[in-house]
Amino acid sequence: MTLSAALPDAAQLLAELIAGRLPDARGRFGPFGGRYVPETLIPALERLEQGVREHLHASDFQAEFAAQLTSWVGRPTALTFAARLSERWGARVWLKREDLAHTGAHKINNAIGQALLARRLGARRIVAETGAGQHGVACAAACARLGLPCTVYMGAIDMERQAPNVGRMRLLGTEVVPVTSGDRTLRAAIDEAMRDWVADPTDTYYLLGSAVGPHPYPYLVRELQAVIGREARSQMLAATGRLPDALIACVGGGSNSMGAFHAFVADAAVEIIGVEAGGRGAGLGENAATVAFGRPGVLHGAYSMLLQNEDGQIQETHSVSAGLDYPGVGPEHALLAAIGRVHYQTASDEEALAGVRALSECEGILPALESAHALSGAERWARSHPGGTILVCLSGRGDKDMSTLQQTLLGSQSA
Ligand SMILES: *Cc1c(COP(=O)(O)O)cnc(C)c1O
Repeated sequence: MTLSAALPDAAQLLAELIAGRLPDARGRFGPFGGRYVPETLIPALERLEQGVREHLHASDFQAEFAAQLTSWVGRPTALTFAARLSERWGARVWLKREDLAHTGAHKINNAIGQALLARRLGARRIVAETGAGQHGVACAAACARLGLPCTVYMGAIDMERQAPNVGRMRLLGTEVVPVTSGDRTLRAAIDEAMRDWVADPTDTYYLLGSAVGPHPYPYLVRELQAVIGREARSQMLAATGRLPDALIACVGGGSNSMGAFHAFVADAAVEIIGVEAGGRGAGLGENAATVAFGRPGVLHGAYSMLLQNEDGQIQETHSVSAGLDYPGVGPEHALLAAIGRVHYQTASDEEALAGVRALSECEGILPALESAHALSGAERWARSHPGGTILVCLSGRGDKDMSTLQQTLLGSQSA
């Protein structure tokens, strides 16, 4: 693979990653990551970094986080053997059930973790951005739980497209602010949330939703989501006595996947696969497969892979799943791809829809469209590794996708 040849020190970087020395002191994962932000944001990020260093791994913070995960989020989430799917695909398929977490996906692990950190750092209010609304709902729930006022910026176009999630956030006591500037979707909403944060970085905490953005967010989000892989690893060992041959997850910004992968990166025998949104095809604007089709560049404060045109303009993206529809990817994924430790592939809209159908019919689980990309990759792996064992991170449940499913899979049937 040509990408790993691009980094001559790949073996060294993998060793550093496994030793826990990445991100480095400058917030870098090899050449990726860092902090590409306006001067005005630097003090706020430095304060956050200091807070993360002081509290994140302190035993009292970890105890508080663990208690919320157990009593409120519903952890540990189940590990499910997919018996009928395994029979159909010819390999043993195990599912890590993040769809069973409170609010229906992995995003709540990060939201409650950062909200607890914010409270510890003395913040009086939370700001966040949301695109499809899933991160906004997780934030709204976490803030209600902790009694923290919450403001979520959301593009005006997204508010129309995702009206049920706007209602959910408002019922949870969150103020949803429409963003009518810029592209009126996620990118403009991120700019507005950052502007709000900079105006008062001591009282306000900016709760970022994926393993992206300037240092220390990619690290912070990975550490909070790593519970997924830690649980899954010990559940697999308890259930089967060994590690899986392969581990697979879908990649949008990259948080459920980093959370699932982290505990397995040192296990050289475990093949790790990330699945991006292949959309309608390989053309610019037809997909959201950043590692597969992107080039290095800066977006939202970090140097990473990025979907851009010849002039370096960020590309519009397309995916049937709103949660994967993002032109960037977290810097740690860019490194994992460049050193060849994780292999990235794509699943098209159609393949993801087939994944929804397969899991629903075989196992009685309606997966999120995002997670269905991982299922499609799992089918491909299973069919080429008969008798093997694959662990799939099922990042969320599909109830939120009913209107899309109505127009696609159920297209010929009336509601
Ligand atoms: C948001 C979301 C994703 C994509 O985000 P990551 O940060 O890449 O995990 C994947 N699955 C579900 C269910 C989501 O809600």
